[in-house]
Amino acid sequence: MSYQKPEKRENRNIDPNWRVIPVYSPSGERTDISVAELDKQIKLWLFDADGTLRRCTVEGQPCPNKPGEWELIPEAMIFLSLIDWTRHAAPECGVVSNQGRVEAGHLTESAAHDLLVDMCDEILSAMDYRWRYFIFIMMCESNNKEHPHRKPNPGMLLEAMRSSMVDAADTIMIGDMPSDREAAKNAGVLFAWAQEAF
Ligand SMILES: [Mg+2]
Repeated sequence: MSYQKPEKRENRNIDPNWRVIPVYSPSGERTDISVAELDKQIKLWLFDADGTLRRCTVEGQPCPNKPGEWELIPEAMIFLSLIDWTRHAAPECGVVSNQGRVEAGHLTESAAHDLLVDMCDEILSAMDYRWRYFIFIMMCESNNKEHPHRKPNPGMLLEAMRSSMVDAADTIMIGDMPSDREAAKNAGVLFAWAQEAF
């Protein structure tokens, strides 16, 4: 089964009770749910990085190769602020990112990881460290489609659930590419398109 990227959806309500987003089950069933309701259910939020939380500022280049080549996506920051990260038993938050450009030789593994750390630091700083101090990072530097961690394979998502001790039913993946959608299906977790959620 192949997935199509949806059109960007204008969805700017900043009240989590009124921001309603489409969420897809692993089998593809769509439920429109408010972020507040979804937040009650989700214990682990997983986000793709490029095109979801950050965008490259170099024309014609899909992803940043060095500092100064990216910026946070403002709509993503608004979305993150709708989740109650401060409540008792607050949810976990992680980034799961394919970084195949490492194997392709565009940047080193540590440079790719540092760029993701910088992104998480900037997100936490933009949130004024009000809600948490830590976002965990998983990345796959391999270009090999068979690599178990490379999305759409579910390895990073399964690993994230294992280390967070959260079940698939309480986990959601948010991403902008069909490989994110498919990784969520393969891991048995809920999915939302960044284009529709943000
Ligand atoms: Mg992406």
